[in-house]
Amino acid sequence: MQIKTPIMIGKTAEYLCYLQPVLHGITNCYILIERVNNKAVLIDPGGDAEKLIKVLTELNAQPELIINTHGHWDHIGANKPLQQKYGLEIAIHEADASLLKDIGKNAAGFFRGDGDGGHATRLLREGDIIELGALEIAVLHTPGHTPGGICLKLDKLLFSGDTLFNLSIGRTDLPGGDYEALVNSLKRLTQLEDNLLLLPGHSKSSTLGYEKVHNPYLRP
Ligand SMILES: [Zn+2]
Ligand SMILES: [Zn+2]
Repeated sequence: MQIKTPIMIGKTAEYLCYLQPVLHGITNCYILIERVNNKAVLIDPGGDAEKLIKVLTELNAQPELIINTHGHWDHIGANKPLQQKYGLEIAIHEADASLLKDIGKNAAGFFRGDGDGGHATRLLREGDIIELGALEIAVLHTPGHTPGGICLKLDKLLFSGDTLFNLSIGRTDLPGGDYEALVNSLKRLTQLEDNLLLLPGHSKSSTLGYEKVHNPYLRP
């Protein structure tokens, strides 16, 4: 059965959040829309720019910003065409900004894609707040999978990129990977509330509470 996309995953009076799988369902791109002016942020548009443009039009969204949870090719692949089409800001942690142009580091060389993720217009750091209308998205620096990996927290939503997955964690064998750093980042995530909806860069969603109990990498 074909699942109709985008998939609604969060809805409040303030925002709508959708999941649009890209790259044949490999990567989770999230579209977050504030409901006053329909301003939208795309989190990890990894590819399929034409599809994303169609979805944004259908949702009547006004895209303003791309946020990359990290600089790997499968999270940045549609950055450049979307930036050109809408004049979007691109926000990425300062330690991953160089990956947008570096095929060696963004792993495009290992896989495929042209490895060009557009140009970053905003460099993020730990504790930054990204405003989208009245929404405030908090930036948590969670290195390990890459040096500049981040998680994003808004209300009950935790976008975890390739740091934490449903019953798994990000790999640390790609350039810039650091297992010890990832373990520290995961420790930090376990301090957050159980009722957060975990929205990872790949595979299925979860809750932080479920992962704390069942994810073998999060057990003490
Ligand atoms: Zn990655
Ligand atoms: Zn990934």
